[in-house]
Amino acid sequence: MSEKKPVPPSTVSQRPRCPVCGQPTYSRGGAHPQCMRASNDRLLRAAMPPPTPDPVSAARPVPPP
Ligand SMILES: [Zn+2]
Repeated sequence: MSEKKPVPPSTVSQRPRCPVCGQPTYSRGGAHPQCMRASNDRLLRAAMPPPTPDPVSAARPVPPP
């Protein structure tokens, strides 16, 4: 006899899930503060322009041989 017990409905699905890590969260914003920060940091880094080469060293004249 092996009757499988029905899985009780979990209340986890009732909670909003963090869009970043996918885990249930209690936060009002719907995402973990640390996840939001990490996401923002990633967005900021992606929006930042690539580092430009040093104009001084780039404009340095090449010494004659
Ligand atoms: Zn999260």
